[in-house]
Amino acid sequence: CEFCQRGDDVLCTRMKLMGEHVDGTFAQWLSVPVENLFPMPAHLDFVQAAALGVNYLTAWRMLFTRAQLKPWETVLVFGVGGGVSLAAMQLAASIGARVIVTSREDDKLQRALALGAHEAINGRTEEVARRVMALTDGRGVDVVVENVGEAVWASAMKSLVRGGRLVTCGATSGDQPPADLKRIFIRQLQIIGSTSGNAAEFRELLAYVERHGITPVIDSVYPLAAIHEALDRLESGSRMGKVGLALQPSG
Ligand SMILES: [Zn+2]
Repeated sequence: CEFCQRGDDVLCTRMKLMGEHVDGTFAQWLSVPVENLFPMPAHLDFVQAAALGVNYLTAWRMLFTRAQLKPWETVLVFGVGGGVSLAAMQLAASIGARVIVTSREDDKLQRALALGAHEAINGRTEEVARRVMALTDGRGVDVVVENVGEAVWASAMKSLVRGGRLVTCGATSGDQPPADLKRIFIRQLQIIGSTSGNAAEFRELLAYVERHGITPVIDSVYPLAAIHEALDRLESGSRMGKVGLALQPSG
């Protein structure tokens, strides 16, 4: 299609994701097009490497292709308990950006701080935008990474510096927040959509992860026979990071 021809296969009108449009990934063997195969970073085992394909690729495109985050900038990541948010926090911190995270759970904020976040805000007990302004001397952040949607949209918009960028890849709490158009044009904000990433970005991500020794956060690993326990864990609120299925000895 037009989009594949210009190298933006992530915009392909016929794009399909394994696990979403195609069944059969919880299996010992599966068949994929050869151009979808990439070498694993040497320091990762199979479960860790498998974690890169969705959350880390999505975060990579959001931060670096779409929002053009720079090492001297400050980024606010909402809902750090979520997979893409956690990946965005790790990747943004690894380039030297200042990273502020939010969560409604204190233990997740503590873990995020241990994993490289610089400041943590509890969205249940604190007013996020007000706290962001206090942390940035009234300036606001350059980039907001967001996939919660309606529940945090107003705080996200109010946390941005003039000319700031908000990049979104989801809307788990609702997809129709007020647009707040006056704020968008007067403060010249950019609202940027993003989904997944293309093959070139995945190649960049893999090289970057290997060069910088980045290890994806794995919550727990189950054998295929315990798939139902794994899915229960996936749905549990206390989870942080990926739930892995070990299909063969890893490493
Ligand atoms: Zn196409």
